[in-house]
Amino acid sequence: MSRIVMAGMPAAGHVNPSLPLVRELTGRGVRVTYYTASEFREPVERAGAEFRPYPPGSISPQDIAEATRSGSSVRVVIRLLTATESLLPFLLAELRADRPDAVAFDSNAIWGRMAAATLDLPMISFMTTFMVGTAELKALNAHETAIAMRAAVPDLLRAVTVKRRVVREFGKDVFPPQPTLPIRGDVTIFPIPRWLQPANKLIDQRCHFVGPTVDPGTRNGHLDPELAAHLEGPEPVVLVSLGTLHAGSDDFFRTCFEVLGDVPARVVLTVGGHTDHARLGRAPANTLVRTSVPQLEVLRRTAVFVTHGGMNSALEALHYGVPLVVVPQQVEQLLIGQAVAGQGAGLVLRHNLSHRPVPGSELRDAVDRALTDASLRTSARAVAETLTQGGGAAAGADAVQGLLVGVR
Ligand code: UDP
Repeated sequence: MSRIVMAGMPAAGHVNPSLPLVRELTGRGVRVTYYTASEFREPVERAGAEFRPYPPGSISPQDIAEATRSGSSVRVVIRLLTATESLLPFLLAELRADRPDAVAFDSNAIWGRMAAATLDLPMISFMTTFMVGTAELKALNAHETAIAMRAAVPDLLRAVTVKRRVVREFGKDVFPPQPTLPIRGDVTIFPIPRWLQPANKLIDQRCHFVGPTVDPGTRNGHLDPELAAHLEGPEPVVLVSLGTLHAGSDDFFRTCFEVLGDVPARVVLTVGGHTDHARLGRAPANTLVRTSVPQLEVLRRTAVFVTHGGMNSALEALHYGVPLVVVPQQVEQLLIGQAVAGQGAGLVLRHNLSHRPVPGSELRDAVDRALTDASLRTSARAVAETLTQGGGAAAGADAVQGLLVGVR
């Protein structure tokens, strides 16, 4: 029996798309040992893997969310590098005690790649997004670029210092080649459709675009009774969520109250763990506020999804043929929103990229249009039909097993 160790990135947007692949592999008799933060024990075990926790203090979902919320892309890299300083020795000890046939790692898990390279084990990279090159950064206008730079530049010196420390301690040869992130492997699985990947010279035949791996069987599908009743009413459902890492502002959620309160729809406003519901005041009668929801279960019943355009949220909505109103918080989400809009399945409101609030009138217009313009839903459904073409988790498992056969 083959055995793979997975070094995960402890964030919902990274764990969720990996689990259908894990489930497929374990179903085929591959033993998968999955390392991540203890918050993810239950879904990892449900996918049939053996769960092993990262040591307390090494890296947590809260750490990743905090770095993301700083607005500095470099802050996230620093957090990953500092995590590597404790997680690499930990993982090396584990792998030496029980050597697997290959190491899979999230494309952000620097420690997973470095452990595999140190022990000369085959590498499977699991991407959660596309490769972004410098050309794509031009999607930001001058003002948006200045804002992104202003957030990132103060962190650059620290990033260089921590990177030098990691390289000095563990060796330059095992550090990921440029560009450091996202990290590719001997095979790289992209759970996204090929059309979402901009042209990039680093994409070669070792990259497998298997398409979204959405599998409700790997997710918590429990709807609380009030939410279930809300979703069952006669009007269409509008789901609003800015994901698990970015905290939407109170102003944005209050704008949703104001301008969506009289839309003939039932609104589910998912505000994340950083927003105290009481701060928002009283929700309109058509709106239910939740910290988080079982997103696939809600999307199945949703007419329009107002989203930050995270890769998973966008693809999950398209999987169910739901048109999107994308409110990007960073450049990658803008690119996703623009690609979805290019397919005719979404609209983009980019104000937050220049730190401006989304005007209520524009949000209302976009939601009205997505609810009433049938072409958006038709396009979303047409995209949904193409999403299985890459073969999904089964094709990902084929690629992984192809690598395992090659190394035996
Ligand atoms: N999610 C969920 N319930 C919520 C919010 C998010 O189940 O209330 C899931 C969502 O279905 C997706 C992941 O968390 O699988 C978020 O990933 P995404 O890439 O969309 O955004 P991120 O949170 O990484 O910015």
